[in-house]
Amino acid sequence: MLIDNDLDELQKRESALTYIEVRLKKKGRHNLFDLTGLSGGFLLKKDDLELLETYVGPAVFEKMLDKYGKDHLGGEKVLGFNRTSAGILATILALVKKDSTVVHYLPELPSHPSIPRSTKLVGAEYLEFDRLDDFHLPENTSLVIITGSTMDHKVIPVEEFQIIIKETHKSSTSPPLMVDDASGARLRTAIFKQPSAWDLGADLIITSTDKLMKGPRGGLMAGKSSLISKIKSKAHQYGLEAQGPILAGMVRALQEFHPENISGSLEKKRELLRYLKREWEGFKETPTGVMISAADIALEMDKRNIKTSLTDRDLAFLWAMLLLKGYGIITIPAVGMPGASPTLRIDLTSADAQKLGIEELNHILRDSFKKLLQIAPSPQQAESVLFKGSENR
Ligand SMILES: *Cc1c(COP(=O)(O)O)cnc(C)c1O
Repeated sequence: MLIDNDLDELQKRESALTYIEVRLKKKGRHNLFDLTGLSGGFLLKKDDLELLETYVGPAVFEKMLDKYGKDHLGGEKVLGFNRTSAGILATILALVKKDSTVVHYLPELPSHPSIPRSTKLVGAEYLEFDRLDDFHLPENTSLVIITGSTMDHKVIPVEEFQIIIKETHKSSTSPPLMVDDASGARLRTAIFKQPSAWDLGADLIITSTDKLMKGPRGGLMAGKSSLISKIKSKAHQYGLEAQGPILAGMVRALQEFHPENISGSLEKKRELLRYLKREWEGFKETPTGVMISAADIALEMDKRNIKTSLTDRDLAFLWAMLLLKGYGIITIPAVGMPGASPTLRIDLTSADAQKLGIEELNHILRDSFKKLLQIAPSPQQAESVLFKGSENR
């Protein structure tokens, strides 16, 4: 096992950033292809730049964020965070007491780590469900969270969403309900044609402004004024709120967001899948591209009689790193934060996906997979690819 804990994952991420830096210097930005679907963006206008100061920035852009944020998510009031994880933490700090229970329903485990981690931090109990039959609310529930679309883009059926909302509202304590709609706010609506979380009855919604839109990494929250005010106060106490430059980036990204750009990638996805199916069984369709899980990568190795002591996760991280090192393809298993999913996902709504033909992408996947087959039997070789340039190992 090469990647076993958070520290290993951080070091792996650092080597990925080193590969990116080296390639940037040698070949330039146009030879890097960020296919994470999370590439972010900073669409500031020239006149925005002189407004990015500590107090002037929020004075201008908080107001604008309130308008465009409500257009995007609904709600009565809007709040910007450094990250979605920061917004989840602020909400739990503000609304959840020690020894109460946070209940989380999601279409498929695992949940984003920020939810259980933040719950643990305040000393509350945590219950998570991905099956309606199991779902229940203990007496002392202080917050209910629904994940609209998981890290792997598994989307909740709208019927399940409605049932959780109804159960929450009719429970005796009627706790607030937050929707973690990090990618869901766009995926559920633009591709699955579901209503917004606000229209479905959520009290709070948070979304990531770099997922399926060209904003900076940040968390945009909307919801009931009374709750937002409490959360805002906590956010300021702990330094979790977005600063002027992030607020400005969010506003400009919201102005440029067009749902048609997301739905337009569907045809490319079908074409790519046709190619991939010839070589691998493990690739599956996602709403915005294709993916292969760590377990399925291991199965593909088995089928080709490759013996390796690497774990499924190691293999996924290694393939992602080979894609980055050899071809400049950036995916989450290479650059993700500790706890991020090891599933190798190619997102065709990414701006950089436009620079690569589908045939070329297929070729790169095959070529890099051949390298994976060669390296996987040797843990030493695998280690040197995964941990290049990270100190203290
Ligand atoms: C991406 C994501 C988050 C966290 O976003 P960060 O910007 O990394 O903090 C939380 N929940 C879900 C479901 C996500 O997909």
